[in-house]
Amino acid sequence: MSRSTKLFDAAKQLMPGGVNSPVRAFGSVGLDPVFIASGKGCRIRDVDGNEYVDFVGSWGPLIAGHAHDEVLEAIHETAAKGTSFGAPTELEVQLAEKIVEMVPSVEMVRMVNSGTEATMSAVRLARGYTGRDRVVKFEGCYHGHGDSFLIKAGSGALTLGEPSSPGVPADFARNTLTGQFNDLESVEKLFADSDIAAVIVEPIAGNMGVIPPAVGFLEGLRKLCNQHGALLIFDEVMTGFRVHPGGAQHLYGVDPDLTTMGKVIGGGLPAAAYGGKREIMKTMAPEGPVYQAGTLSGNPLAVAAGLKTLEIITRPGFFDSLNDKANRFFEESRTFIDKNGFPLTVNHVNSMGCMFFKEGQVDCFADATQSDTDKFADYFRRLLEAGVYIAPSQYEALFISGAHTDGDLQFALEQSSEALLSIFS
Ligand code: PLP
Repeated sequence: MSRSTKLFDAAKQLMPGGVNSPVRAFGSVGLDPVFIASGKGCRIRDVDGNEYVDFVGSWGPLIAGHAHDEVLEAIHETAAKGTSFGAPTELEVQLAEKIVEMVPSVEMVRMVNSGTEATMSAVRLARGYTGRDRVVKFEGCYHGHGDSFLIKAGSGALTLGEPSSPGVPADFARNTLTGQFNDLESVEKLFADSDIAAVIVEPIAGNMGVIPPAVGFLEGLRKLCNQHGALLIFDEVMTGFRVHPGGAQHLYGVDPDLTTMGKVIGGGLPAAAYGGKREIMKTMAPEGPVYQAGTLSGNPLAVAAGLKTLEIITRPGFFDSLNDKANRFFEESRTFIDKNGFPLTVNHVNSMGCMFFKEGQVDCFADATQSDTDKFADYFRRLLEAGVYIAPSQYEALFISGAHTDGDLQFALEQSSEALLSIFS
């Protein structure tokens, strides 16, 4: 019996499903999970000594790769001075300055510990600021596990077939309205019937697979929010500092009122943030009446790791090189698929992407959920066996980091091609 299997057996007795986050259990791909022992650069190693080229990157944060020497040094140096004070520190000011510089729509920022906390807090702020209760989200978009968001959600909720979770009070669910991603009319209808505090959207959907916004979709949301006095919230927990140093909002040229950030911003440690227009952010306590707080918010280790990561990715050439190799990787996958006539679709925006086991365009939730998840599971198992680690779900993104070399990507492409040839032979 492998060490991973032994650990999983023990873990199942101690933690629901043996894991601390559902998709990690590998349920939808019909395997037991591998337990990870270490990582360096783009490679991870499991407790049985198997090595993988990693395309999960801790679900997005590790844009500079695992155990980046400079990030580790920043963490060590900071830890030596104390791990947490629950008091203001200079590093927090530096990180806030860096965020404001990189994401111009963010004039003020509040640090929290997870993407879930960032989106929950941003929506509370929007409700407090506008004096309205209702929020609009999109089917298949995931904004963490706050009660307002587990309504027709993506990511693990979708993977497990429970997009709307039991335990969310009906009174809460009533205040979450659901539109269709890339369908402005569906949002117009919601505005016609209700007073809406905010529209929250992943500007590039990344939790029902990866679906870029259609031309005019984000601009249309901006216009509708302006017309109706609602706030536009871009949930850039996944896309922020990933698709561009300034996030998806910079790529598409649309400024939201509030932005939620996570993943890359913590460089692999638990940090997240929300921020936006000064006038709105001043509604937060202690300047304003909307309450939100956190014992470990702005934790020095997380801030140090995040700050160093942002410094690394803003060095000249980092994004050019990352995007260049990512674009080549996805294009080559596409060319191979087209050449062989496989019923697959590759969607990506720079270094985040996915392959849908579905023919033809995937522009919305309805398209994404037509994917053949059994074939995906087969593909996942073959890749894992071949030493390539991707997220164990059709509905998750794959991430390329600065640490992936052309050789690593070539290796992954070869393993992927072989797997597909076997599946479709
Ligand atoms: N928002 C988006 C777009 C996400 O992708 C995620 C997590 O994957 C979250 C929010 C929640 O972040 P966390 O898992 O840090 O709570």
